Formats: sequence, structure tokens, C-alpha cells
Amino acid sequence: MTLREQILTSIARNGPISVSDYMHLCLHDANYGYYANHPALGANGDFITAPLVSQMFGEMLGVWTIAVWWGLGRPARVRLVELGPGDGTLMSDMLRSARAAPEFLDAAEVWLVETSTPLRSAQANLLSHKPLEWVGAIGDIPSDEPIIMIANEFLDCLPVEQWVRRGGEMLPRRIGLDESGELAFVVDSRGSKKDGHEEYDLVIEHSASLERIGREAGQLIRDAQGAAVFIDYGPSVKGIGDTLQAIKQHKKEGPLVSPGEADLTVHVDFPRFVEAARKGGACTAPLETQGAFLVRLGIEARASALRTSNPDRAGLIDRQLHRLVNRAQMGELFKVACLHSAGLRLP
Ligand code: SAH
Repeated sequence: MTLREQILTSIARNGPISVSDYMHLCLHDANYGYYANHPALGANGDFITAPLVSQMFGEMLGVWTIAVWWGLGRPARVRLVELGPGDGTLMSDMLRSARAAPEFLDAAEVWLVETSTPLRSAQANLLSHKPLEWVGAIGDIPSDEPIIMIANEFLDCLPVEQWVRRGGEMLPRRIGLDESGELAFVVDSRGSKKDGHEEYDLVIEHSASLERIGREAGQLIRDAQGAAVFIDYGPSVKGIGDTLQAIKQHKKEGPLVSPGEADLTVHVDFPRFVEAARKGGACTAPLETQGAFLVRLGIEARASALRTSNPDRAGLIDRQLHRLVNRAQMGELFKVACLHSAGLRLP
């Protein structure tokens, strides 16, 4: 049975499922979920992320990390935590750039929060740092040592609920069956009618998981001391609309087209995330764009150093830099949210 058949059977038996349950099944179902089963990052896979565009991205996060460690007073033990490390490239680039600060490498315990078994093995193959630990959730990270936490394109896979407004009423938008028995979005109090887009003009998303992660990250940073940086795509003021999208082999497709075969994401509601982190007890810095953040950390100087030492690759390095920081590329759509403990000055 495929995941599609499993979902069709479950809907036929028990009625429509919520968008968040659908996302969870598609991404994490133990047998058929995208991440549990066959996640494929990179040029030959389904999607590409900033660390896979260029090593400069991880190097800049390495610079940020070491500056935070200095700000913490160079503690002898520090937990370097990454949420959703993918194939491990980001952490590997960060640790390589941290060789400039050997006392930091001696102090750092690396903790990876990862649910995907195939990605855990990819990370294990790439990373030789010791000590290195894997856990399944942010709540599994102890708070008895300072923490420096990073997460790139992690928040966008957290499931959302969708609602629509119709005739003054908010109704859940769910996934049910159309007349021909195929998966379709449905909006109906009884959950039986196909959702014709003409019936409403507004989809509102809300993610309980995003708020929970924000709160937990905020609490951890408050209790352990330290800082966290979350990078993802999304508007800096809450937008309205359906942002659920699927991507497979670098092409967008409808989110109901191939359950479990494609990566499913949403735009991150940063204002809500930051508010949850603050409620959890962390201080938060103003949201910044990825472009501004990377330029502030010195990515342009790093690019020119790389160009000088690799003249044959100068054009490529320029294109990579442009992709990461230019407003028309990732520079503006991607946002950076920093959390920190009281009294810590961020780089
Ligand atoms: N940060 C990487 C990979 C992004 S893909 C990069 O920038 O290239 C998303 C990552 O988050 C994957 O490693 C995926 O397995 C992980 N992930 C998704 N949902 C998760 C969850 N609920 N808990 C832990 N990890 C999760």
C-alpha cells in the first residue's frame, strides 16, 4: 500500500484529515514519510538549501557562533546544537571554519536534533567531531551548559493548520475526497463537501508546532544561557494565505499530488515564532533579512578571499554570493531570528 492509498482509505473510513496531520504523515510517517524514507537534498535531489549553495553560508554561521561563545565569556563547555541538520553540510562547514578558534572546538559538544534515520546516517558520515550526540526533540537537550543553537530551513517543515473564513465563520480547511475519490481540500462543517475556491477568499494558517518549538527554544536559551539563530523563508509581518507547497526534483507541485514523495513546506510565521520564544523566556533581536545578516558577518570579504585563492572559480563564487545575499534571490525572502539570554550581546 502506498501512502496515498493509506490516506485515501483512512479518509474514506474516518472522514477528512487536518492539514497538519497530512503534513505530518507526508513528512514523517515511519514507512512512507519523505524524511523517514528518502530525503534527497542537493543538486541531484529534490531541493537545495543555503549551505548547499556555498560553503560561505556555514562559514558565516561559524563566525557568528564563535562570536557568541566569546560573548558568553568563552566557557570551557558549550553545547553547539543544530535542529534539522539535513545532510550535515552546514555543521561541517561551521566546524571547519571554527578551526581558527581551537579552544572553541575543544569546548564544543555537538548535539543534533534529527528525526530522520537516513539523514542521521548522512550526518554521521560527514561529521567527525567528538563528542557528537543525536536526539529526537529539542526537549531532550539538557540545560546545564550554555547553548549555541542554529537551525536553517527547519521551521518551514513544521505542520500548520489551515482555516478559511466563510460567512463570518472560521472553518477548518482539511483534506478529504472529491467526487472521483481523489484527495482534495475540503471546507465544510461536516467535512464532506469539496472546497470550491469561489466560496471563500481567505486561508489563514496557524502552527501549534511552530509555537511549541519557539517556546521550548526560548526556555532552553533562558535556562542554559546562550543564543539561537533560526533562518527560514517567510514574511516579517504575518501574511494571509495558503503557503503550503510541495517540491520534488526542484519543481513545485500541488501538495496533494504525491504524498510522501515530495518535500512539503510552508512560509514561516516569524512574528508568532519570535513571540513564542519571548514567552518562553528568551530575549529576541529584531528580525533581519538573510542578506543583511550575512553581509554584516563579513561574507563579502570572505568571498573576495576565496576568489583570490581560487581565481579559476571566481565567477562561480560571485554567483554563489549573489544567490545567498541578493534581494531578488535568497537575500530578502529568507529571514533571520536571533534569540539570546538576558545580558548577552549578540555579534
Ligand atoms: N538544515 C539543513 C536541512 C534542511 S531540511 C540545510 O539547511 O540544508 C529539514 C531538516 O529538518 C531535515 O534534516 C529533517 O529531517 C529535519 N526535520 C524535519 N522535521 C523535523 C522534526 N519535527 N524534528 C527534527 N527534525 C526535523
